[in-house]
Amino acid sequence: MVETDNNPRRQGSATRTKTHISEQPITWSNWYKHINWLNCTFILFVPLVGCICAYWTPLRLKTAIFAIIYYFNAGLGITAGYHRYWAHRCYKATLPLSIYLAAVGVSAGQGSIRWWSKGHRSHHRYTDTDKDPYSVRKGFWYSHIGWMVIHQNHKRIGRADVSDLDEDPVVVWQHKHYIKSAIFMILVFPTVFCGLAWGDWRGGFIYGGVLRVFFIQQATFCVNSLAHFIGEQPFDDRNSPRDHVITALVTLGEGYHNFHHEFPSDYRNAIEWWQYDPTKWMIWLWKQLGLAYDLKQFRANEIEKGRVQQMQKKVDKMRSKIDWGIPLDRLPVMEWDDFVEQSKKKALIAIGGVVHDVTGFIKDHPGGRAFIASGVGKDATAIFNGGVYRHSNAAHNLLASMRVGIIRGGCEVEIWKGANSKGMVEGKGVEIVQQAGGQVTRRVPVVKIDEA
Ligand SMILES: [Zn+2]
Ligand SMILES: [Zn+2]
Repeated sequence: MVETDNNPRRQGSATRTKTHISEQPITWSNWYKHINWLNCTFILFVPLVGCICAYWTPLRLKTAIFAIIYYFNAGLGITAGYHRYWAHRCYKATLPLSIYLAAVGVSAGQGSIRWWSKGHRSHHRYTDTDKDPYSVRKGFWYSHIGWMVIHQNHKRIGRADVSDLDEDPVVVWQHKHYIKSAIFMILVFPTVFCGLAWGDWRGGFIYGGVLRVFFIQQATFCVNSLAHFIGEQPFDDRNSPRDHVITALVTLGEGYHNFHHEFPSDYRNAIEWWQYDPTKWMIWLWKQLGLAYDLKQFRANEIEKGRVQQMQKKVDKMRSKIDWGIPLDRLPVMEWDDFVEQSKKKALIAIGGVVHDVTGFIKDHPGGRAFIASGVGKDATAIFNGGVYRHSNAAHNLLASMRVGIIRGGCEVEIWKGANSKGMVEGKGVEIVQQAGGQVTRRVPVVKIDEA
């Protein structure tokens, strides 16, 4: 990936007075102008040539081991360096660590720290919008690689502040000498190292240089594509970021992306000890070695808030699909005398201030016809709630399906109805929070959740 100046004035005379090339439809006569040929060369053509050359280049064990070790170092340069240190300031690094991360980060061929961090901060600020430089809403392949191989209108991309990076001498130096340092770290260093150490100049170039950088680029691109495409959303499902172990395995632990977008300044992406986040482990190790300090971590309480809210959202959604009986606020209010009078014609029972018509249920009552018949025309709240038999939760739910009215002055039900009729309509589910899991007829609290 190479930084390019997409100033529309440099797109040729045809576009000088027109809109930016990215705003124009792709046609047979202009398709080649849409392609960012420089980026294409470095992220597609060179690796392709490398793959072809690898066919005639024997892979020696030492070179393979070197390429893998160098791969992980380059990966850490991006994940622990570019991403968590510079783009998000998740921790502080001493100068030696900072220089190491900038050097191995260059070898991943993903532009300078400054350019990378600017795009990434914009991605976090404008996730999934048109201002997101690699929005997954434009398609998987666009977020993976399309945004680099097709010209972008840089004026469209959301602004992000990188003034803090401009005060970091390592970032400034690396940005200024990017091309030189990239050529050296991507190609020259692995070639010379393998050449001088065990005489494998060609293998060092192909495996340690070209193919290694290709794989590390594709792995990093997965954070923009795969991490917004597959997995769970335990903290917030309004945007696309997702948590998935496969993405984590590919990206040195960056796959817990739903968490990361919620808590971007946390030095961890995985918060459980058993989740794969080697980047986090390395940052922790550097801390033990005195190379990193001030590791930022969100309080567990804040993290749990998000997790519980998301769980509640899912539960509310499930709840809204279930019939909980006629919503209380839609039931007619009855005088007690009317209730008694009507009970002579049909089997009405008042429980918890709610009137239920059990006419069709008497014969099916598991406790026998006699017990239920004895409650007709009466307030059976106490009997139903343990006076005679403590009915199950399922029984309360079944009872709710038979409710037909509310007794005026019938305990707190009428008060509840008055206070909650505006937003708390039972049956709509989503608005109901405190009613979830319980029926108004139920009078014996089983467990006090906040004390449990
Ligand atoms: Zn993201
Ligand atoms: Zn990030």
